Amino acid sequence: EDRIELLRQRMVLEKSLQESYAGLESLNVALAQLTQSRLDVLGKQAELWLEYALEKIKNGALVVLTVFVIIGAVISLLVRRQVRHIFLLQRDKELILDAAGDGIVGVDKRGRVTFVNPAAAQMLGSETHELLHRDVAQAIPVILANGENVMEQDHPVYQTLRLKKGFSARSDLESFRRRDGTMFSVEYVATPLFGAAGQHEGAVLIFKDLTEQQQAEQRLEEKKQLLDHMSNHDSLTGLPNRRLFKDRLYHAIERSRRKFNDMSVLFIDLDRFKKINDSLGHEVGDKLLVAVANRLQSHLRRSDTLARLGGDEFVLILEESSRSHLAAVMARNLLNELSKVFDVDSHRLFVTASIGISRYPHDAQDVTGLMSSADAAMYHAKSRGRNNFQYYAPEMNGRAQEFLEMETQLRDALEQEQFEIYYQPQYDMRDNTLVGAEALLRWNHPRLGLVPPGDFITLAEETGLIVPIGKWVLAQACRQNQDWINDGLTPVRIAVNISIAQFRSDLSQTVEEVLDQSGMAPQLLELEITESMLMEDDENTILLLNSLKEKGLHISIDDFGTGYSSLSYLRRLPVDKLKIDRSFITDVVHNESDAAIAGSIIALGQNMDLRVLAEGVENEAQRDFLVQHQCYIAQGFFYARPMNAEDFAELLGKHHSETMEKS
Ligand code: C2E
Ligand code: MG
Ligand code: MG
Repeated sequence: EDRIELLRQRMVLEKSLQESYAGLESLNVALAQLTQSRLDVLGKQAELWLEYALEKIKNGALVVLTVFVIIGAVISLLVRRQVRHIFLLQRDKELILDAAGDGIVGVDKRGRVTFVNPAAAQMLGSETHELLHRDVAQAIPVILANGENVMEQDHPVYQTLRLKKGFSARSDLESFRRRDGTMFSVEYVATPLFGAAGQHEGAVLIFKDLTEQQQAEQRLEEKKQLLDHMSNHDSLTGLPNRRLFKDRLYHAIERSRRKFNDMSVLFIDLDRFKKINDSLGHEVGDKLLVAVANRLQSHLRRSDTLARLGGDEFVLILEESSRSHLAAVMARNLLNELSKVFDVDSHRLFVTASIGISRYPHDAQDVTGLMSSADAAMYHAKSRGRNNFQYYAPEMNGRAQEFLEMETQLRDALEQEQFEIYYQPQYDMRDNTLVGAEALLRWNHPRLGLVPPGDFITLAEETGLIVPIGKWVLAQACRQNQDWINDGLTPVRIAVNISIAQFRSDLSQTVEEVLDQSGMAPQLLELEITESMLMEDDENTILLLNSLKEKGLHISIDDFGTGYSSLSYLRRLPVDKLKIDRSFITDVVHNESDAAIAGSIIALGQNMDLRVLAEGVENEAQRDFLVQHQCYIAQGFFYARPMNAEDFAELLGKHHSETMEKS
C-alpha cells in the first residue's frame, strides 16, 4: 500500500510534473508568442524610430555635410590662396633677391653668412656656397680708401650688429676684396635685423659695385672738364678767358688779402692789331695772336695768370708783386719781347702793345675795380703814344668811363661841331722851309677837353662813323686852305689822313665834291693812306688810286715800315711819298735796327723815285741823321707841334711863296 500509495503519489507527482512541464511549455510558447509579438511591436517601433532617426540623421548630416563642404571649400580656397600667396611671395622674394643688381648678404647675430644672392656672389667673385656659413669679415674683406684692411671688429657688418634699431652703417669710400684679391669700390648699407623681442638677430648687407658707375662718372667728369675748359678758355690761344680770369683774380685777391700781399693786374692791348687783321686777313691775325700769347706766356712765372679777354686784349695777374716795381719790370720785359719780329706765314710782323697796371690794394680791392683801373691805365698808355706802360692813377677812372660813353658822344660830335683840325707843318730840313702840313683831327669834347685822334679814331672806324667824319675833315681842310690862299697866304699842300673805310666807300666822288665846293686846286691835296689799305692787292685799289692821281692829287703812304706791303706791288701804285713811321725815328740815332730800317726806306724811296718824309723828328740828332742819309722832309715836334688853324695861318704868313716848288 505504501508502495502503491507511493506509486500513486509518484504517478500523481509525475502527472503534475508532466502537467507543469506542459504548462511551462505553453507558458513558454505563450511567452514566446508574447515575446514575438512584443518584439514585433518593438521591432516595428524601433524600425519606425530608426527610420525616423535615420531620416533625422540624413537631414542633419546633409546640412552638416553641406556646411562642412562649404566651409571646407572656403577654407581650401583660402588656404590655396594663402599658399599661392606665400608661394608667390617666396618666389618673388627669391626672384627679387636673385635678380637684384645689388649684392645682398644676410648674416646671423654671430656674423656668419646665412644668405647670399647671386649678384653678391658674382661681385665677390665666389660661388654662393663658398660664402655661406663663413665669417662675414673673411667672406667680404673691406679695404679703406687709404688701402688699409679693415679689422674684423671694425667690419661694417660687425659694427651693424652692435647698432640700435633704426640705425645702419653706410659706406665711406671703401672697397671690397674679391676672392682673387682684386678690389672694387662699393657703396653699401648694412642694417641690423631684430627679433620680436627686440634682440639682435643678425644683419643684412646690401652693396653695389661702383666701378662702372665710377667709370661713367669719370667719363662724365672728363666731358664736363672739357666743356668746362671750353667755357673757361679762349678757343684760339687756349688761355683762360674773361670768365675764368675773373674767377682767378677773385681768388688771387683773396690770397693777397689773407697774406697781406700786394698784387698787380696788367692790361695788355696790342697796338694797331686791327690793321694786321684788315690787311693780312683774319687767319694771319689769329696766328699772330697765338704767337703773341705764347711769347707772353713764356715770360711768366708759374704763379702768374695770363688770360685773353677777347680780340687783342690780354690781361695778366702778378701775385706777390710786393716790390712795387715788379709789375713795371714785367711790363717793360713784355713790351720788349713783343717788339721782336713775329714770323707768321712768311710775313715778318711787328707788334707793340700798350699796358695798363693796377695794383692791389693800392688802386682797388675787388675784381671789377682792379680790372677797370688797369683798363683805364691801358687807355692812358695808348694816349701816351702806345708801346708803353702806365700805372693807374685815380683821375684816369673818369676818363675810362668817358671812353665807354664815347661812342654815343662821337655820334653827336659832328652835328655839335665839336671837331677841329690841327695842322702840323712839314719842313725841308735843309733850309727850314715850310713845305706842307698834315691835317690832324681833334675832338673838343665838352668834358674831356681836346681829345687826340688816337683815342677815338679806332672807335670811329669800328662804328663806321669815320666815313662822315673823314668827309668832314677833307671838306674842312680844303675849305680852310683855300681861305688862306684867298687871304693871300702861301699856298701849301695839305695832307689828310684817310681811313680804310673811306677808301672803300666812294672816296673818289667825295674828293671831287670837296674840291668842287672849296675850289681848291687838286694839287694842293695829299691823301695819306696806310700800307694796310694797299695790301688788298686788287685792281680796284690801283684803279682808284690812278683816278685820284689823274685828278692831280698826291698820294702818300703813312706810317711806312709798320705795314707789310710787298715792294713789287708798291711799284705798281701811283704813290708820291713815303712817310717813315715815327717809331723808327724815335731811336734812329742809337738803335741800329731802327737806323737800318729808316735807311732802307730812304733808299727804297730814292730807288722808286718817291719822296720820303720822316715823322716824329724831335731833336737835332735825328734831323742830322736823316739829312745825312738824304731824307730831307720832316714833320715833328722839333719843328712844330700840330696847331690850330689860327696859329697855322700865322705861321704861314711868315713864310714865302718859294716853298711850294720844293715840295
Ligand atoms: P699820323 O697820321 O701818323 O699823324 C702823326 C701823329 O704823330 C700825330 O698824332 C702827331 O701829333 C704826332 N707827331 C708828330 N710829330 C711828332 C713828334 O715829333 N713826336 C711825337 N711824339 N708825336 C708826333 P695825332 O695827331 O695824335 O694823330 C694820331 C693819328 O691819328 C695819326 O697818325 C692818324 O693816323 C690819325 N688821324 C689823325 N687825324 C685823322 C683824320 O682826320 N682821319 C683819320 N682817318 N685819321 C686821323
Ligand atoms: Mg698821317
Ligand atoms: Mg704817321
